[in-house]
Amino acid sequence: MTDSRPRRPPGSLLDQIADQTIEQIRSAGTYRQLRELRGPQGATIQLDGAEVVHFAGSNYLDLAHHPQVVQAAADAAAAYGCAVAGSRLICGNLDLHAALESELASFLGFEAALVYSSGYMANLGVLPCLLRESDVVVSDALNHASIVDACRLSRAEVRVFPHGDLNALEALLREIRRHAPSDRRVLLVLDGVYSMDGDVPQLPAMIALAREHGALVMLDDAHGFGTLGPNGRGAGELLGVHANVDVYVGTLGKALGSFGAFVAGSARLRELLINASRTFIFTCALSAPQVAAARAALTVMQREPERRRALQANADRLRSRLQAAGIDTAPSTTQIIPVVLRDNARTMRVSERLLARGFYAQGIRHPSVPRDTARLRITLMSSHTQAQIDTFARAVAEEAEEAANVPGSLRGSGVTGPAT
Ligand code: PMP
Repeated sequence: MTDSRPRRPPGSLLDQIADQTIEQIRSAGTYRQLRELRGPQGATIQLDGAEVVHFAGSNYLDLAHHPQVVQAAADAAAAYGCAVAGSRLICGNLDLHAALESELASFLGFEAALVYSSGYMANLGVLPCLLRESDVVVSDALNHASIVDACRLSRAEVRVFPHGDLNALEALLREIRRHAPSDRRVLLVLDGVYSMDGDVPQLPAMIALAREHGALVMLDDAHGFGTLGPNGRGAGELLGVHANVDVYVGTLGKALGSFGAFVAGSARLRELLINASRTFIFTCALSAPQVAAARAALTVMQREPERRRALQANADRLRSRLQAAGIDTAPSTTQIIPVVLRDNARTMRVSERLLARGFYAQGIRHPSVPRDTARLRITLMSSHTQAQIDTFARAVAEEAEEAANVPGSLRGSGVTGPAT
């Protein structure tokens, strides 16, 4: 067979551009490569041809291959096909979308919800609809990249406060109000669970401050939806302030084991987004199998709260095992647990050595986290066994200690005990 791919001479402008940037990335120690998975995403996975215990995904409740979820997706594929070849406003609005949206709204206790094709797009879609150039968005320094991009896209003034710092937030809101005309909109945007640190913001105090200064509150609860709170309604439910959030963003691709996302809030908010949100308007709708899978997962998630309890018990167990071995897991209080090793090379070395021992915990570097805070980012699932957690904790402690003893790497091993 002849190769019909277009050939470009080596050293073309395109390659020069790529080379330049890739070289910068390589010399910063943040070069990335894809790994290949096969089969379902359970507590163990087939990664690059080997079976490993999975501590890197977001299929927190192990619903992505639950029989009821898979069957719902298969039935929907048979009945509706695999694509919705159009946007919601043209020919892509299925009865399934409306059903999922009303189920999400009623589960969460909001008037309405609107499904988006991803969490990234939901965040990009909301902020430019709510804010004008003359307005202000107040954003935590560790908010997710999609919020950072959404802030830029909104064209509003962006004011960033240090992560979780209540005093700084209060001072900032006060200052904004002092200088702002009364019709200037102010929106506070927060993650429900910080995706690289696993901590939950002090929502009651932050929302109270927002109210005091007339600011709206938007919560991106990508990692809290389904995993936190007595009923899985997320970070706000956990802290008793769920009803005080104005705009709630959740994803379908993490605890719900499907794909896509949603925005929940008032019926007028939904109407506004349908009419003005560009990432809702100008893209294909989620396909029927994805929507059906999310609906089935929402049902299983509500029927089986023990999955959420097992997830958090697993996270507690791993944290306490790591801490007992002298590993600092601060500030995590959720199923996301960072082990901050600081140095890029050391972090990737620990990740690779764990992989060779049969454990997959991804090393995370800048720009996913601030420079010099490279870390293993560990995530739990409800279905990890105690034996898997305990052997993994021992392996992490041994590898962190080994990395600390590699010549030239004296600082930031993540180990707080005698091993440093
Ligand atoms: N918000 C947060 C806090 C996230 O962690 C992520 C994904 N990692 C997103 C939004 C984006 O969601 P999605 O993957 O559905 O685009």
